[in-house]
Amino acid sequence: MRYALTEQQQARQAEFRDFVASHVDPHAAAWERAQALPSEIITMMAGRGYLGATLPTGYAGQAWDVVTFGQLNEAFGRSSSSLTSVLTVQAMVAMAVLKWGARHQKETWLPRLASGEVIAAFALTEPDAGSDLNALTTEFTRRPGSGTLVVNGRKRWITCAQIAGVFLVFGKLDEQPLACLIPRSTPGVTIDPIRELMGFRAAGLATLSLVNVEVPSENIVAKPGFALSHVMPVGLQYGRISTACSALGLLRGCFEETVVYASERKVDGHPLGDIGMIRRLIARMGTDLAAGNLLCHNACRTEDEHAPEAFENALAAKYFTSQAAVRAASDAVQVRGAVGCHESSPTSRYYGSAKIMEIIEGTTQVHEDLLGKIYLGQRAMLRR
Ligand SMILES: Cc1cc2nc3c(=O)[nH]c(=O)nc-3n(C[C@H](O)[C@H](O)[C@H](O)COP(=O)(O)OP(=O)(O)OC[C@H]3O[C@@H](n4cnc5c(N)ncnc54)[C@H](O)[C@@H]3O)c2cc1C
Repeated sequence: MRYALTEQQQARQAEFRDFVASHVDPHAAAWERAQALPSEIITMMAGRGYLGATLPTGYAGQAWDVVTFGQLNEAFGRSSSSLTSVLTVQAMVAMAVLKWGARHQKETWLPRLASGEVIAAFALTEPDAGSDLNALTTEFTRRPGSGTLVVNGRKRWITCAQIAGVFLVFGKLDEQPLACLIPRSTPGVTIDPIRELMGFRAAGLATLSLVNVEVPSENIVAKPGFALSHVMPVGLQYGRISTACSALGLLRGCFEETVVYASERKVDGHPLGDIGMIRRLIARMGTDLAAGNLLCHNACRTEDEHAPEAFENALAAKYFTSQAAVRAASDAVQVRGAVGCHESSPTSRYYGSAKIMEIIEGTTQVHEDLLGKIYLGQRAMLRR
C-alpha cells in the first residue's frame, strides 16, 4: 500500500527489504534446519536499530512509528518467521516496560534491549494455562522483612527463551496477577529448549522452570493486580501487530513465489497460469494480500494515533492475516506440486510456520470470541 506511506516510510520499507534479501533470504532455510539463529544476524539487526524500533531515542531506540514497525515485520516475515519472532518478543517486553515499568527498570533494561545487548522473552503461557489465563499457577511469595520475592512455576512455549537475558514473567502474588522481570542468571532459573516444532524452528523456544527463584520486589512491573489488565495487553497489542504483519509478509511470499512458478512451469506446453483452477488460487491469494495489507496498515496507523479502535483493529488484522497465510501457504504448495513439498522450496517452510500464526498471541478462536463481543457491543451505534 505504497500510496498510504510517507516518503520516509517508503525509504525504510525499501531498506528493510534490501536487508532481508541480502542477509536473511540466503540463510533462512539453514537456520530452520539448525533450529537456531546465529548471533551474528541478531547483532546486525541490532546495529540497524531494528530491536529498538519503537522505543524512544531517550532509551537508545529509533522512535519509529508503528506503521514503520509493521513494515519491518512484514519484510522479515516474507523470509523468516523465526527471525521475525525476535522482533515480536523484543517489542512486547520493551513496550510493556516502557508503558508500565518503574523509571529504574526502564533505565536498566530499555537501552540494553534497544542495542541488542539483551534479548527479552515474554513468559506468560504455562503447561496448564494457555488461552485461559485465570489458570496461571506460577506463584510469587514475599519473603517477610527482606524486600525479596520467591518465585515457583513453569512457563512453556516461550519464544527466544533459549537466548533471552531477561524474562517478563506473569504469575500471581496472594491471588493477584503479577508481572516481574527475572534475569536469566538468577539462581533457580532453568531453560529446556523445545525442538522439532512444525515451524518457527529457529525461534529458540524453551520451557522455563522457576524453582525458589529469589528476585528483589523492585523487579515487579506495575502494581500487583495490574499484570493481566494493564501490562499484558500492551505486550499483546505489539505482539498481535507484529504477528499480523509477519503473516502478511508470509502471504506476500506465497503470492510472489506462486505467480513466478505458475508463469514459468509448463504443463501440456502451456504455463500453469493458463489453467483456470490455478488462476482461482492466485486470485484468492492476491485478494487476501490486498485485504491484509489494508487491515495491517489500519491497525498500525490507529495504534500510532492512540485511537480507541486500535485494539479491535490489531485483533482484526491478526485474525485475518494468520488465516489467510494458512490458506495461501497451502495453495502455494499445491501449485508447486512435489517441488513445493521439499524443504528447498520456501513454500514448505511457509506451510509449517503459517499454522502457528493462528495459535500465537491468542488463537483464532480467542480472537473470534473477543471480536464477536466487541462487535456486539457496538449494537447501539447501528442506526436500526
Ligand atoms: C511457536 C510458538 C511460540 C509461542 N511463543 C510464546 C511466547 O513467547 N510466550 C508465551 O507466553 N506463549 C507463547 N506461545 C504459547 C501460545 O501463546 C499458546 O499456545 C496459545 O495462547 C494457546 O494456548 P494453548 O496452546 O495452551 O492452547 P489452549 O488454550 O489449550 O487451546 C486449545 C484449543 O482450544 C481453543 N480454545 C481455548 N479456549 C477457548 C475458548 N474460550 N473458546 C473457544 N475456543 C477455545 C483454542 O482456540 C485452541 O484451538 C507460543 C506458542 C507457539 C506454538
